[in-house]
Amino acid sequence: MEFKTEVFKTFEKTGDGFKVITDREEYGAKAIIVATGAQPRKLGCPGEDEHRGMGVSYCATCDANFFRNMHIAVVGGGDTAIEEALYLTKFASKVSVIHRRDALRATKVLADRAMASDKIELIWDSVVEEVTGDGLVNGMRLKNVKTGEKQFLPVKGVFMFVGQEPITAPFVGKLELDDRGYLITDVDMHTDVPGVFAAGDVRKKSLRQAITAAGDGAIAGVQAIKYIENLEA
Ligand SMILES: Cc1cc2nc3c(=O)[nH]c(=O)nc-3n(C[C@H](O)[C@H](O)[C@H](O)COP(=O)(O)OP(=O)(O)OC[C@H]3O[C@@H](n4cnc5c(N)ncnc54)[C@H](O)[C@@H]3O)c2cc1C
Repeated sequence: MEFKTEVFKTFEKTGDGFKVITDREEYGAKAIIVATGAQPRKLGCPGEDEHRGMGVSYCATCDANFFRNMHIAVVGGGDTAIEEALYLTKFASKVSVIHRRDALRATKVLADRAMASDKIELIWDSVVEEVTGDGLVNGMRLKNVKTGEKQFLPVKGVFMFVGQEPITAPFVGKLELDDRGYLITDVDMHTDVPGVFAAGDVRKKSLRQAITAAGDGAIAGVQAIKYIENLEA
């Protein structure tokens, strides 16, 4: 086993496998496993980066426990935001959902559950101007996009769910992606190109967690070995 810390740029099909091109070298490979992951989309407001891990979070499953009995906020209005807001009600005393429109984009069943929750407060037509704090988050400044009215929300945590981006730019036009840019695989992690496998957050799936990424990696590894054995048989 050999590890190389290099940036993958692209791959090309060759007669007997693939040429893998990084920022430093070119390699010959009989199979490729893509595991470039995904990254949460940032909101981009002042205070977001400074308080990342200090009250600003992008993962409810990971960080909910830090906010037991506290007032927190969720930014977003899609399925993920509302699913995570509902999950966070099991921990927080109050969850304010900040959405820039006057209706949720989430599916009706999720939206109805959010509306029915006595722990969820929906703040409509509002954008985050700043996340404030002094080391730890202590609040956020909001602006109503219709009235221009501003308010300060004294929250201890802010969960951003304004989308996630798979890191698939090097594979556009080479491997099949879904409409959100995730790599499409079958249950054995095969992509649409024989010999190229994908594992982890980069692929289309329903739960992106360390344990599911590790499981994908194990399957992709075994399938890649089988693929090479078949080539050599
Ligand atoms: C803030 C946060 C907290 C989380 N906490 C938890 C938790 O507590 N428990 C849990 O189960 N899950 C957690 N998750 C989810 C978990 O981190 C992911 O599901 C898991 O790491 C996915 O593994 P992966 O290998 O697919 O991708 P990653 O872990 O994202 O690894 C992808 C790697 O590929 C590298 N890479 C990308 N592009 C290139 C390139 N062109 N060339 C070379 N390298 C490249 C990246 O730098 C990165 O090192 C968290 C996620 C976030 C965002």
